[in-house]
Amino acid sequence: MANLFEGYTITSPYGWRRLGGKSDFHPGIDLVKAHKAPIYAFTGGTVLYAGMGKAGTGLNNYGNVVVLKDDNGRAQLYAHLDRVAVKIGDTIKKDELIGYQGNTGDVTGSHLHYEVREKASPLYGWSSDLVNSTLEPTAYLRDFTPQPAPVTSTNYIVKAGDTLSEIAKKYNTTVNIIKAANNISNENFIRIGQVLKIPNASNPVYYTVKSGDNLTKIANTYNTTIEKLVSMNDIKNINSLQVGQKLRVK
Ligand SMILES: [Zn+2]
Repeated sequence: MANLFEGYTITSPYGWRRLGGKSDFHPGIDLVKAHKAPIYAFTGGTVLYAGMGKAGTGLNNYGNVVVLKDDNGRAQLYAHLDRVAVKIGDTIKKDELIGYQGNTGDVTGSHLHYEVREKASPLYGWSSDLVNSTLEPTAYLRDFTPQPAPVTSTNYIVKAGDTLSEIAKKYNTTVNIIKAANNISNENFIRIGQVLKIPNASNPVYYTVKSGDNLTKIANTYNTTIEKLVSMNDIKNINSLQVGQKLRVK
């Protein structure tokens, strides 16, 4: 994957750091291009706020700040801007100009403080529990748009004495995956000479369920079907997906 922060120098990462001898949690990542350099959105979103962060709003000390609400319902903050280039209510696409690097608010020098908050309201997702209300921006952006896995498959020609479970084992896959890929309802009915499609034979792909996901969405992303997901993962109730659950999608 390309460098997420191409053109920037990371001057302070997300997480715990020592400032003046004491531990301090940095809820975002500090990025530097050049003073007044254009800042482009890392993802799309809707502008919840653009302007000077006021005390008591969850944006105090952030200076000129743009808050985007993204498709996951998170708040993304672009802080300490010299000036903003968008207004509240604007819909922003990835890589659109949103402002210029600056040193407004509580800063020691010109930089972009980029922060991802778990929630977008109230207070633009601000909580005194910085550790649990914010997300690590690099990992967040990397996962933001799930990359559909390439669809590849291998053909296998059934020989005398073959069983689906042996074939599955051979290709490091499961009987259910082969059944789903070939519309086989009864695994005892394979015949010699039959060509079986073995999807992504030895490269299973997994997806971790996120809040707001459903099987339709995941199936679309991975160019598969709900039926295949159900079958590959032995899902009993399609409405009982758990956040954090690992699903095989290929
Ligand atoms: Zn910062």
